[in-house]
Amino acid sequence: MIVLHYTGMEGGPAALQRLCDPAAKVSSHYLVEEDGRVFALVPEERRAWHAGVSFWAGERDINGLSIGVEIVNPGHEFGYRAFPEAQIAAVIALLGDVRGRWTVPDARILGHSDVAPARKTDPGELFPWARLAAAGHGLWAEPDPAPGPPLREGDEGGPVLVFQAGLARLGYDVPRSGLYDADTATVVRAFQRHWRQTRCDGVADGETRARLMAILRLASA
Ligand SMILES: [Zn+2]
Repeated sequence: MIVLHYTGMEGGPAALQRLCDPAAKVSSHYLVEEDGRVFALVPEERRAWHAGVSFWAGERDINGLSIGVEIVNPGHEFGYRAFPEAQIAAVIALLGDVRGRWTVPDARILGHSDVAPARKTDPGELFPWARLAAAGHGLWAEPDPAPGPPLREGDEGGPVLVFQAGLARLGYDVPRSGLYDADTATVVRAFQRHWRQTRCDGVADGETRARLMAILRLASA
């Protein structure tokens, strides 16, 4: 897997210092600065401590089977902003390099928020996943909206169960209870940050449902 992050700190140098500080107990294989400079921090075959408590598609030891890439951006806490062109070009080139050495399916190029939806929101809804997919990395789809009323917190029944099953099949750690509870809404927000970025409200409207179905089709292709 490849897990993408934002640094969530005021600047790149502070993030670099923290990632190199043994006492901080965080690390990543790569750091990508806003100007496109790439710092290689941990050898790819070694474990880095970037994912924390995480889950994807049955796996919990995400650090043990992923390459972690920290992308410099202040994040939601310190002034979230668009990722500069030079930085994204560097990320795309880096993904090409990494995937030249390791087999990483497109369905396993994910954000930190995908593998830890209750704790993390990075790299966030401004991260250009569509651009990455156009360059050959990760999954993206632009489907027509699905018919039917939105599903939201408090709803229960068959349609909720089907929707939860779809999120779980993609890989998310989501309840499969038929009840659209707060945990389900949290996972829906994570899905939206990655695959439906214009509205991340935890409501499974027709567009969100259509996007999930389209991504599932791509993931199983
Ligand atoms: Zn992160």
